[in-house]
Amino acid sequence: MILSASILSADFAHLADQIREAELGGVDWIHIDVMDGHFVPNITMGPFIVETCRRITKLPLDVHLMIEKPENHIEAFIKAGATYLSIHIETCPQVFHNLQTIRALGCHPGIVVNPGTPINAISAVVHLVDMVLIMSVNPGASGQEFLSETISKISTLKALIPSSRESPLIEVDGGITPETLPHAYSAGEEFSYLQVLFLRTQMV
Ligand code: ZN
Repeated sequence: MILSASILSADFAHLADQIREAELGGVDWIHIDVMDGHFVPNITMGPFIVETCRRITKLPLDVHLMIEKPENHIEAFIKAGATYLSIHIETCPQVFHNLQTIRALGCHPGIVVNPGTPINAISAVVHLVDMVLIMSVNPGASGQEFLSETISKISTLKALIPSSRESPLIEVDGGITPETLPHAYSAGEEFSYLQVLFLRTQMV
């Protein structure tokens, strides 16, 4: 299991200290939630913060783009230091091309599905990604309740993954707490070839 801590819950006046505290607490990755005020109502952070995090930590940076037209910003986020760059299936008609571009620029591509989007929506691109991110809250804000019905998507995802390729990581994003984490973990554990990855909603 990989724990990816979201800096959306961090105190930005002390970002470096908060990231170091998360490192000492044992997180594996740092998750960066990018919101544009269009695809989701909130506006959060851009490549500058990714670059700042890159200077603070050597941990992989797991960048989650909740933005329209992600193709306009892929290169900037990768240059800033993203290790994984995930885009929403709901945001772009050019999703195939965008995922290929992310890989061509030396980054791990990820695809994201909202709670209201069937997992089958990613069937045409699942072979292109290193990670599938399943939203377990509606995207746009931290501190929401975990939507347990989204976990059934993990088992549906199994049928979409070509047996010829290594399975992508599965990330469950939002509302992960000590209480909800075991449900998400056990859903992925059924498949020995799948790795399950969780997002902590609070910095530790
Ligand atoms: Zn996220």
